[in-house]
Amino acid sequence: MYRDHTRQVKIGDRVIGGGSPVLIQSMTNTRTEDVEATAAQILRLEEAGCDIIRSTVPNMEAAKAIGEIKKRIHIPLVADIHFDYKMAIAAMENGADKIRINPGNIGSKENVAAVVSVAKERNIPIRVGVNSGSLERQLVEKYGGVTAEGIVESALDKVKMIEDLDYTNLVISIKSSDVLMCIKAHEILAEKTDYPLHVGITEAGTLWSGNIKSSIGLGIILYEGIGDTIRVSLTGDPVEEVRSARLLLRTLGLRKGGIEVVSCPTCGRTKIDLIGLANQVEAMVADIPLDGIKVAVMGCAVNGPGEAREADIGIAGGVGEGLLIKKGEIIRKVPEEDLLSVLRDELLHWEA
Ligand code: SF4
Repeated sequence: MYRDHTRQVKIGDRVIGGGSPVLIQSMTNTRTEDVEATAAQILRLEEAGCDIIRSTVPNMEAAKAIGEIKKRIHIPLVADIHFDYKMAIAAMENGADKIRINPGNIGSKENVAAVVSVAKERNIPIRVGVNSGSLERQLVEKYGGVTAEGIVESALDKVKMIEDLDYTNLVISIKSSDVLMCIKAHEILAEKTDYPLHVGITEAGTLWSGNIKSSIGLGIILYEGIGDTIRVSLTGDPVEEVRSARLLLRTLGLRKGGIEVVSCPTCGRTKIDLIGLANQVEAMVADIPLDGIKVAVMGCAVNGPGEAREADIGIAGGVGEGLLIKKGEIIRKVPEEDLLSVLRDELLHWEA
């Protein structure tokens, strides 16, 4: 596993790299300078399981808000900077736990040096981020277009720029909305560096397409042992990003946590509103602080009980009612309208 051999980088009180658990990140979509709204969103993200949060810092007001936001939250805050190196410095002076910059777009070497000097003074990690969309012209020409090789070379050039300033407290991210290019770029990069990698598929799309693209892209990259921290990018509520990231990591066996819901696809035998019920169950379990429990929501008494027995608790639908199955045993019949509340009650009083 590449991730077992990456360098460890400390972000606030969290550690990424060197075989640490893969951490989940997301990004606020409030105006960062609106302290109330930004802190409220971060608290919702924390509750959903976010480990590290990033907020854009496009102006001095936003940089100054960092200190206030940090007083109200419990996870490390990363400042996302584009173009203005002074914002990177201000963000660090106001308590950012990490900054994310593309050294290629914050101006001269002197600007990069000024940022690195403050980072070094305060031992603040820098995430060097490169996107396929902003690949330098000479690399596009060298590789005959935007390619995985070009993205990697661009990222390593930026890393070298910072290493030459005698600073190595770094994380690298390379992003592309082209899933296959993104996978290839990570494979190449992981061979060439031992800095921890922040992995994501950029501009992945809406909840539906973003989840599919991220599952394929991140799923393959993570399965290959690459990636120390991830963000699932979705056009939607960032809480959904965190939920998707958790499910992705849990499915790959990389993180534990939360209740897993399995449900059958329904067929002509289904005689209850199983689709509605499965969605309600999934939403209901999100708030229950149990780990490693599997809940089965099955549509009928033919195959349902068998599948539900494999889970810790489950229901198998009948006509206007369902069987409640717990640890392999049929416990009782429950009217359809009570299935959700009975299941919730069982989980709230769960004894391992
Ligand atoms: S569990 Fe029953 S209802 Fe669900 S798909 Fe299988 S046979 Fe159909």
